[in-house]
Amino acid sequence: MTKQRDDARRILHDVFGYPDFRGRQAEIVDTLAGGRSLLVLMPTGGGKSLCYQIPALMREGVAIVVSPLIALMNDQVANLRAVGVHSASVHSGTHPDEVRQIAEDIHNGSLKLLYVAPERLVSERFLRFLDNTRISLFAIDEAHCVSQWGHDFRPEYQQLGLLAERYPQVPRIALTATADAETRADIKHYLKLEDAPEFIASFDRPNIRYQVVEKNNGKKQLLDFILKDMQGESGIVYCLSRKSVEDTAEFLSSHGLNAIPYHAGLSMETRTQNQRRFTQEDNIIVVATVAFGMGIDKPDVRFVAHLDMPQSIEHFYQESGRAGRDGLPAASWLCYGMNNLMLLKERIMESGSDDFQKQIELSKLNAMFAVCETAECRRVPLLRHFGEESGPCGNCDNCLNPPVRFDGTVLVQKLLSCIYRVGQRFGAGYVINVLRGKNEDWIKQNGHDKLSTFGIGAEQSDKDWRAVTRQCLGLGLIDTDTANYQALRLTPAAKAVLTGGQTVWLRPLKRQKTTSTGSKTQWLRTEREERIWQELRHWRLEQAKAENVPAYIIFGDRTLQSIVQNLPQTEADLHEIYGLGEAKIEKYGSDVLDLCAKFMQEADDGGDVF
Ligand code: ADP
Ligand code: ZN
Repeated sequence: MTKQRDDARRILHDVFGYPDFRGRQAEIVDTLAGGRSLLVLMPTGGGKSLCYQIPALMREGVAIVVSPLIALMNDQVANLRAVGVHSASVHSGTHPDEVRQIAEDIHNGSLKLLYVAPERLVSERFLRFLDNTRISLFAIDEAHCVSQWGHDFRPEYQQLGLLAERYPQVPRIALTATADAETRADIKHYLKLEDAPEFIASFDRPNIRYQVVEKNNGKKQLLDFILKDMQGESGIVYCLSRKSVEDTAEFLSSHGLNAIPYHAGLSMETRTQNQRRFTQEDNIIVVATVAFGMGIDKPDVRFVAHLDMPQSIEHFYQESGRAGRDGLPAASWLCYGMNNLMLLKERIMESGSDDFQKQIELSKLNAMFAVCETAECRRVPLLRHFGEESGPCGNCDNCLNPPVRFDGTVLVQKLLSCIYRVGQRFGAGYVINVLRGKNEDWIKQNGHDKLSTFGIGAEQSDKDWRAVTRQCLGLGLIDTDTANYQALRLTPAAKAVLTGGQTVWLRPLKRQKTTSTGSKTQWLRTEREERIWQELRHWRLEQAKAENVPAYIIFGDRTLQSIVQNLPQTEADLHEIYGLGEAKIEKYGSDVLDLCAKFMQEADDGGDVF
């Protein structure tokens, strides 16, 4: 057993260049390499691939990896080839000559991993080929595709259970980043993993810093955030509509940023080209609808911004989770407002779903909204949503810059009683106008200018009242009528405030200055390090262009960081650099050493005298 562990660790270091396993990777590798099937749940960026790639190198035969998207397969194969592991993928676009070569390499035992789409795997022709092949293991990636509960349902996945019957001696690993209880049950059922152990990693992504701001001029706020913290970095900006995608991309470009749009209305050619630029270059911002992202494994995305609030925590977590897969500091920035909430409610209410489904979706939306409104740590409710209890994280806006709350009981009582007096039939705009004593015809026609609450809130601005309303929604004191989704109404919790004298603490109504979220390059300690970092990035980009692969396939950001901080001088030093295995040392080692020698030389020339 320990020999097996030593082997796994040696491969981790020599091939992939990493010093240690993360989380439960070591146990998972051990289980699979030992020939047992299992189910793995890990958040995006958690490191699922190594869980089967290392056992594939430890066991005899070829590993068959099922993956739902060609883009994912290609990315994995490019990564493996870059570290010197013989792997390939077969899909609709693979040339017949190449397929023949792959078959030959499998039979002569040189190919270690083969990526295939599920429909090909379950075809009789392919299965007959496998019958005469030595298979080390089956890995079923994105295993939630098996379930109709999820949003990525792929019917062919449900047939993968046949692998258990046809190849009972071959261990299988199912992996996914999104699996609630129902999905997990489906995975176990359809993939015949009922008795297999489950390895569930924490869903926390500690390197992602969460920041939520209230919207007043979204695009401008976004621009400020990028200019302040994220200039020159790769990022994704999500918008709700195509129009807003176009506008935002144009706005950011007009301010000198490399922003490109991506949505389903663009031609296939433009989409492919824009996606390609995003993955290959290292300072592109993609502005996109949620259509963008699945199948993009770029590890050095430094920020994900939401210009509108997503409809659920699951969506938010999956989208924001595309930042910082390499484990370096990354940011999730979210901008939201009440209109945003109302629009999403409207979408749900006007969708064709039945009432039960609508209720589920509304409660998911409210949970998301509560994360935006909270004055406490953001991570706590996010993780609780995935069944994990945690304490304040120290890496979100509320932890870093705790909002100073004030006793807002009187303001809240005014709002609640006004909502009550207008009959719980009107939207926020109307209620606020009554509170502020606006002499509008509609208000007069309804006789609401005679109410005791008419004009009792004249001292506060419209904006202030909107902030109070939002917070009351977030606190669950009010909600909106399901039949008339604009209309505000009181919840049972409101009673304690109106008649029970319960105190309500509110966040400041005026927007607080946002704190810097800190970018990746915070670790750069000196100007010299900054220069070395830039030169290495430049070298990496040139190299990537020459090889026609994404920059991160050459070296990840963490590898560059490790080089900047250690300035290796000998080949032995290179083995200590994060992410440098033998294949990369052989290929790029001398370039790196030359560059480092040059930097050392500069220092000796007196660059650092002062
Ligand atoms: P997932 O598939 O779970 O989203 P990946 O397998 O793509 O995540 O891994 C995310 C990143 O983390 C990759 O760049 C990978 O090389 C890196 N990684 C995985 N395991 C380790 C480890 N033990 N040490 C260092 N980096 C790792
Ligand atoms: Zn926090």
